[in-house]
Amino acid sequence: MMLSNSFGLQANAKNFISINSLDDLSKIENLHDKKLLILGAGTNVILDDYFDGTVIKVQLTEIEIHEDCISVGGGVDWAELIEYCLTNQLYGIENLTHIPGSVGAAPVQNIGAYGVEISSFIESVECFNLSTRKVEKLNNDQCKFSYRHSIFKLKNYIILKVNFIFNKSFDPNLSYPALSDFLKDNSIDASSITPRMLSESVKDIRNSKLPDPKLQPNVGSIFKNPIVRTNHFDHTFLDGHRWDQDGEYTKFSSARLIELIESDLIIPDTLRFYENHSLVLINNGGASFNEVINLLNQIKSKILKEFNIELEIEPEIISV
Ligand SMILES: Cc1cc2nc3c(=O)[nH]c(=O)nc-3n(C[C@H](O)[C@H](O)[C@H](O)COP(=O)(O)OP(=O)(O)OC[C@H]3O[C@@H](n4cnc5c(N)ncnc54)[C@H](O)[C@@H]3O)c2cc1C
Repeated sequence: MMLSNSFGLQANAKNFISINSLDDLSKIENLHDKKLLILGAGTNVILDDYFDGTVIKVQLTEIEIHEDCISVGGGVDWAELIEYCLTNQLYGIENLTHIPGSVGAAPVQNIGAYGVEISSFIESVECFNLSTRKVEKLNNDQCKFSYRHSIFKLKNYIILKVNFIFNKSFDPNLSYPALSDFLKDNSIDASSITPRMLSESVKDIRNSKLPDPKLQPNVGSIFKNPIVRTNHFDHTFLDGHRWDQDGEYTKFSSARLIELIESDLIIPDTLRFYENHSLVLINNGGASFNEVINLLNQIKSKILKEFNIELEIEPEIISV
């Protein structure tokens, strides 16, 4: 079974199970395979050529309204939920417009952009617990959300549905510098902005910075921005590319670090960094898993040697 992924890597799996209704969970209840991969739209994974196990894909696509709560199937496309909210006067996630992927994957890394994280709108998550083999509902606290993290990273749950509570009135979050600058530059009045205008603005900013995976296969940011303890560290060379955090910590721009060593890298013809954003690696066509991993390891070791900074790969590497 070929596995679809936004990086355009050729990948197959031994076994594939699609969850189209809750009845399909019986296929997992009796499954003995220990090697499992839950796959959404494949926009945040780097897949090896062959997954020697079972791939599970949630394809529940209903959107249901229960009083204040909107229950959304894990297989719904994220863009469809954004549009649903814009059409139905449900507010709060406009800043998360144009993040690729499925609703079922959104809680996993607590997707976030332009000062908003999805955890602020999640009431609960309905999931299949792979240890107990039962369906459970985890409330927001139980999901243990933090920056790009949640309990779902432990891989013990298949997310079936996400229950959201959105705002009933529009109180836009325009504080993120790239967003407020864009509004100013385009003479969009912050006091009279509509949800649709905000969503379109975020889309425009993203389109100007990030390549469309359908046209230029990629997985978004290839490394996380490292947060480093900087009390004994001369980081003036990164001025303008770092953001002070609480205490002695500073977040550095991985894009800038890559730019500083890029001329020393041996990059295969099948790969390149995006012209407008050096944190985005593009598959020119025919790139292999090994080529990607070798390049990422090359970058990590050069940055460690040169600056004593350890980079962490952002998408999940799936290799069995
Ligand atoms: C161009 C681009 C821009 C991006 N921008 C952002 C951004 O601004 N902010 C951001 O946070 N992310 C961003 N991402 C990352 C990505 O869009 C998100 O992580 C998204 O939620 C992944 O969704 P997916 O369905 O493709 O998940 P996949 O890539 O298929 O899976 C991602 C992880 O979630 C797990 N998973 C998937 N579905 C389920 C499920 N139903 N139950 C349990 N686990 C599951 C997988 O096992 C895997 O660990 C970007 C990616 C790209 C390509």
